[in-house]
Amino acid sequence: MRRLTIAAVLAEVVEQLAGSVDDARLDAEVLLCHLLSLPRVTLYSRPETVVSEVQYRDFMALVARRRAGEPVAYLVGEREFWSLKLEVSTAVLIPRPETELLVEQTLLRIPDDAHWRVADLGTGSGAIALAVAQERARCRVVASDCSAAALAIAQRNAEQLQLNNVEFRHGSWFAPLAAEHFHVVLSNPPYIAAGDSYLQRGDLRFEPGHALVSGADGLDAIREIVATAADHLQTAGWLLLEHGYEQGTQVRALLKANGYSRIETVRDYAGHERVSVAQLGASLC
Ligand code: GLN
Repeated sequence: MRRLTIAAVLAEVVEQLAGSVDDARLDAEVLLCHLLSLPRVTLYSRPETVVSEVQYRDFMALVARRRAGEPVAYLVGEREFWSLKLEVSTAVLIPRPETELLVEQTLLRIPDDAHWRVADLGTGSGAIALAVAQERARCRVVASDCSAAALAIAQRNAEQLQLNNVEFRHGSWFAPLAAEHFHVVLSNPPYIAAGDSYLQRGDLRFEPGHALVSGADGLDAIREIVATAADHLQTAGWLLLEHGYEQGTQVRALLKANGYSRIETVRDYAGHERVSVAQLGASLC
C-alpha cells in the first residue's frame, strides 16, 4: 500500500488544482490544514506526516468541490478579516481585503477614547462592525441585516471574539434602527449591476445575490442609504460607503445632492476608487 504523506498528497492536489484556481498551492494547503486541524507551518516542518485513507478521501472530496469553483472560505467555514477569524457560510458575503479600507477610514474619524454610536448597515458576517467594535472599545456598534441567517453568524462571531459592544438587529438598512442617531454610519452594501457578467466569475457565483446585486446600475442600495442616513446621523456625523470602482463620481454626486459636505473618495490598494466619505453639517464639538 502506498504511504500517503502530507508532501505527497499536497503535490498531487496542487497538480489537480492548477489551471482551475489562482493559487493551487495556497488552496491545497489551506484545505488540508483545515481537514487535519493543523497549523500551516506543520506542512513544512513535518512533510513526512502520514495522512490516513479516510483523511485522504475527505481531502479529495474537498478538492473536487474547490475545482468546481466553491470558494475556499465556504469550504473551510472561515475567513480572516482585520486579523479577526470569522465564521462564514453561503448566507454571507466573504469579507474582502478591500473592505478593510472602509474600516481604516472609519477609525481615522473616531477618536481612540470616543463613546460614539456607530451603525453598520448590511453587516453580513459582522466583519466591519466587529473590526470597529474591537478597535474602539468604548463605542457602541449597532449592525443590521435583512437576513436572519447572516445575523446568526454575525452573532456567533461576536461571541467567539468576546466583543460585547456590538448589537445585531434584523431588518433592512435603517428599518430596525428606528429613531436612533449615530455619530458614524457605514456600509458595504450590494453595488453590482444586475446582469453584470462579473457575477458569473469565481467566488461570486456562490455568494448570496442580495449581498452583491443592487438594481440596474448597482446603485439602488447606495441611493437609499444616502437618502435616509441624514435622519439617523448626529450633526457632523460621518457617512462612509464602499462602492464599485467606477461608481465614485455618481456616489459623490448623490452625497452632494443630499446635502453632505467634506465629500471625498479614497482609493483601495489596487488604486481603485472604493470608499466615499462625507460629513453631515458642521464639525463635532
Ligand atoms: N467588492 C465585491 C466584489 O467586487 C462586491 C461586494 C459588494 O457588492 N458589496 O467582489
